Amino acid sequence: MNLKSQTLPELAGIFKELGQPQFRAKQVYTWLHKGVRSYDEMTNLPKALRETLEERYPICPPKVVRRQESQRDGTIKYLWRLSDGNCVETVLMRYHYGNTVCISTEVGCRMGCAFCASTLGGLVRRLEPQEMLDQVLFTQVDSGLPISHIVLMGIGEPLDNFDNVMRFLELVNSPEGMNISMRHISLSTCGLVRKIDELAQKKLQLTLSISLHAPNNEIRNRIMPVNKAYPIEQLLDACRRYYQATSRRISFEYAMIRGVNDSPENARELLERMKGLPAHFNLIPLNHVEESPLQPSTRASVAAFQKILEDGGIPTTVRRTLGGDIDASCGQLRRKYTQENKREDR
Ligand code: SAH
Repeated sequence: MNLKSQTLPELAGIFKELGQPQFRAKQVYTWLHKGVRSYDEMTNLPKALRETLEERYPICPPKVVRRQESQRDGTIKYLWRLSDGNCVETVLMRYHYGNTVCISTEVGCRMGCAFCASTLGGLVRRLEPQEMLDQVLFTQVDSGLPISHIVLMGIGEPLDNFDNVMRFLELVNSPEGMNISMRHISLSTCGLVRKIDELAQKKLQLTLSISLHAPNNEIRNRIMPVNKAYPIEQLLDACRRYYQATSRRISFEYAMIRGVNDSPENARELLERMKGLPAHFNLIPLNHVEESPLQPSTRASVAAFQKILEDGGIPTTVRRTLGGDIDASCGQLRRKYTQENKREDR
């Protein structure tokens, strides 16, 4: 068990069993959520207690394996090695409204989207709550930049690791911890309908982001296998229920893939489908992945697509691509690193 995955009341329970006064639990919680690497940094704790904790609950912080900083926009990408040797990526982006980390929720992914590097090697395992928290904490510690926003858009499908992600949200949101507001958190999903309903019941103030990428089942089936389990009608119905339950407008991601989903006709069909559902669209020119034949749309077709949605009343942003010089799109760095190491092993 890792202490950092425990909520403050749970930690209080553990300290009670250890025969420790309650204020110690809060001290330790605060230290852990500052991103200390060892109990020895907890200078207001008696040495004996530090030793007990070290022995029973080692901290095991992730190690930086690669750190790449974009010369263009200051984006920093981290590849971390976790305590079991697996690697995940985190990206720090510097927006005008605050420093934002994009974190991974799984090692690999089992969703199989045709354009995505994260899923190429399949799912290895799900991340523990503290492994998600550590990405935020140690990115902040390493960069020296205060983190105010989080997006769950790195490697993995957050709703495929539901309970651990919910616990992570509780931890990172806690006033005694990082105290990051739910309104500063976005969770992105490829469309696991049942889990979207489960999330709706929690009525969190976060932004739900749906990776839609297609106006109909024919196209979506081709690029996103999840669509065969939950066709687009079911997905958008779940979005309507989500909006009814939370009153939170949903954000939709749409990766623009040349000749696949980027025609004016596709835009018009999308507009029709979205009727009556308050939405915001993010158009993302596809990030080319080496192993895939899919290519990004031209700037002109992205602009034309945007205009059709906007004219139809849907606010639509073309996502600025950050970190284009450092393999910043999800899964690329981990993939490269694993491939290189495999070659070295041979
Ligand atoms: N599994 C979740 C979150 C991780 S992916 C999801 O599917 O939403 C984060 C976003 O990046 C998703 O919208 C995903 O579809 C998109 N994405 C993945 N590979 C991409 C690529 N090569 N170019 C552009 N967007 C990509």
